[in-house]
Amino acid sequence: MASDCLFCKIASGAIPVTRLYEDEQLLAFPDINPQAPVHILVIPRQHFASLAHTAPEDAGLIGHLLAAAAEIARQQNLAKGYRLVINTGNDGGQTVEHLHVHLLGGRHMGWPPG
Ligand code: 5GP
Ligand code: ZN
Repeated sequence: MASDCLFCKIASGAIPVTRLYEDEQLLAFPDINPQAPVHILVIPRQHFASLAHTAPEDAGLIGHLLAAAAEIARQQNLAKGYRLVINTGNDGGQTVEHLHVHLLGGRHMGWPPG
């Protein structure tokens, strides 16, 4: 755990959130500033500053993040579709430096993203 990391504090329970999904490796909770009717963040409990800070041996965890996001999307009844976003680094628009997957749904998404 990175002691000054917001999402590590959420993962540890130091900052309470509504836990929509959790297991030994992951936690999902609503985004505080939703950009769609459904906007959920899925994070690993382990601290990675971004996707760029993962290594090839983290592929299993990254796969589990995506599989969990798909399962949460089913739980949220997003049968019409949804979007997963992993903002990475400054150009990617990342603002919280702990790897997270955005699950966005409940409205049509435009392309290209801003
Ligand atoms: P990023 O811009 O890094 O891809 O996404 C960070 C996300 O974290 C943003 O969508 C922002 O609204 C969300 N966020 C920031 N602080 C908090 C918080 O304290 N609680 C929750 N639930 N979400 C947060
Ligand atoms: Zn962290």
